[in-house]
Amino acid sequence: MRRERAIELTKLLSRLYFVKRDYATLEKCLSKDITWIGTGRGEICRSFKEAQEHFQEEKEIYTGSFLLSNEEYQVQFPAEHVVCVLAEMDVRTPHQAELVFDEHMRFSVIYRKEGRRWKIIHLHNSMPDKAQEGAAYLNERRGRRDYRFIKEAAAEMAATRIDEVRKMDSLTGIFNMEGFVEHAEVILKEHPDRPYAILKFGINQFRYINHILGYRTGDHILREIASNLEKLCEEGEICSRIEKDNFAILMAYEDREALDRRINSFKEKFVSQETEETLNISIHFSGGVCLIEPGNKESVKRMLDKAMLAQHYRSTRRRLEDDYIYYDPEIERCQLREQELVETARFAMKRDDFKMYFQPQVCLDTGKVIGTEVLVRWVKPDGRIVMPDEFIPVFETTGFIKTLDFYMLEKLCASMRRWLDSGYHVPPVSINQSRLHLEDRKYVEEFCGVVDRWRIPHDLIAFELTESAFTEYNEMIQRLAAELHNRRFRLDIDDFGTGYTALGLLMLIEPDVLKMDRSLTANFENPKGQLVLKKLIEIAKETHTAIICEGIETREQVEYFRALHCDIAQGYYYYRPMPETAFEEQVLRAEDIVWRNVGECSKES
Ligand code: C2E
Ligand code: CA
Ligand code: CA
Repeated sequence: MRRERAIELTKLLSRLYFVKRDYATLEKCLSKDITWIGTGRGEICRSFKEAQEHFQEEKEIYTGSFLLSNEEYQVQFPAEHVVCVLAEMDVRTPHQAELVFDEHMRFSVIYRKEGRRWKIIHLHNSMPDKAQEGAAYLNERRGRRDYRFIKEAAAEMAATRIDEVRKMDSLTGIFNMEGFVEHAEVILKEHPDRPYAILKFGINQFRYINHILGYRTGDHILREIASNLEKLCEEGEICSRIEKDNFAILMAYEDREALDRRINSFKEKFVSQETEETLNISIHFSGGVCLIEPGNKESVKRMLDKAMLAQHYRSTRRRLEDDYIYYDPEIERCQLREQELVETARFAMKRDDFKMYFQPQVCLDTGKVIGTEVLVRWVKPDGRIVMPDEFIPVFETTGFIKTLDFYMLEKLCASMRRWLDSGYHVPPVSINQSRLHLEDRKYVEEFCGVVDRWRIPHDLIAFELTESAFTEYNEMIQRLAAELHNRRFRLDIDDFGTGYTALGLLMLIEPDVLKMDRSLTANFENPKGQLVLKKLIEIAKETHTAIICEGIETREQVEYFRALHCDIAQGYYYYRPMPETAFEEQVLRAEDIVWRNVGECSKES
């Protein structure tokens, strides 16, 4: 809040209180945990309810409105989201009033931002000492309290309020990290024999939710979670918003089973089904748990760190079944090893140790090459070739895959440019792209940027995305698909048949190609597998989606899939992935190859 606004608000407040005597509106400006001190009649209100009662009494004693003059205001900013205004003014009753009141009044108000509103959390109104003597309007019924005591109490209360506010999260009204740590330390000290756990969790893809639905909705979701968390906390338990979309709960537990049951029941209660339905999204969480056995001497900060490590481990391993995992020292060691691998990879990338291998895709009908997939290989300085399975999963968890994917795209485009300039008939190349890119808003733009910089026609690039990405990134994939198709890129769904994506959902994005996974094509002799294959192929045909059969290794497979009118095959039977030079010599330069696009191939068969 700016200075002028704080003054304006306080002027309004003094008018509501002294002139309009509009207590109903005044109450709306009060925070639910207001403390209100009036030295005039010696009242101390420690809650909203007490303040209301006090207003009721006041209304009966002072009737009519007051006149204000000589107003002066000073503004202070003692903490973030806290404003303190000191006001002074002359307050008097009109001459004809029965109860004569003519005093110089002072009051200080502390405002705190609660959600989008500024609310009063503390108010202390007072009169200079001399005015206390024999003032006729003082409430004799309740008796005069020690004026000095009240003054000191007010000052202390104000200081505590400001200190408290510093430990609260202004968006949600629950503790922030500082408040959580401080209160958790106290609770743990008070219950040294009780097992406790810290659950820390965050919303998956919160950035995306903010981006799609807007920050206001994002804030709304955070506030809802906070308020639900407070309800879930029992006596001696606390919750907090640690930062952004990350929350923590300190919870007591009897045994692991009961704790698991409770955490599992929590997940459905963080955000109401109603909210999810209204916003048309499903919100998922990833969490980490740190168990605090009795006698644990670690600081709460360290425990929170451990819960966070587990949470991070969970959120980067999307395939794990549970939404949360327990901290284990092995997690820390594992993350260290992963970081080391990424450091080595960064260095290797500078040395250009990551190479492109190409595996041609063949039209089942004609046996001609109609495209190729580019696959990465890490060639160590001693010539040893490291296969992607050994490093891609780690790159996925650390996020380094995004760097590698762009590096490969850059290399691919550079080579394609060279092939085009050499007059080769360049086939479409499909490139694997990690699902992690989906979280980046400008991803398609950046992808396009690279392709356009090398002046590669968009229909020569096929974008491969694995089916498993659908479980989590459904909404994002729909946008991505539309963006890619708008720019005339081909979209291939990789590892098709391994996930459990509803086919209807998948077809909604109108992919150009379904790449049938090796696990399906290998199963072609099993009757049940055959049934699945036939159904899938039928649907693909009906929707004019081409099928690439992956992992074709035998003549039997070729015949089987050709008979089913599958379009394209990729596998060792035809070609193994080969280095760039080999691809140029054996495939690009071979004279009898006629390139066609997948669409043509699928239409003819
Ligand atoms: P993928 O996209 O499913 O690639 C096909 C994998 O199957 C390749 O393994 C390929 O060598 C292998 N393959 C092809 N034909 C046959 C066959 O007939 N029989 C058998 N047994 N295997 C066959 P590769 O090259 O080891 O790649 C493994 C995975 O690594 C890829 O699976 C892909 O998901 C990922 N990957 C590779 N390069 C990249 C990349 O540049 N970026 C990203 N994000 N992922 C990549
Ligand atoms: Ca692939
Ligand atoms: Ca695949």
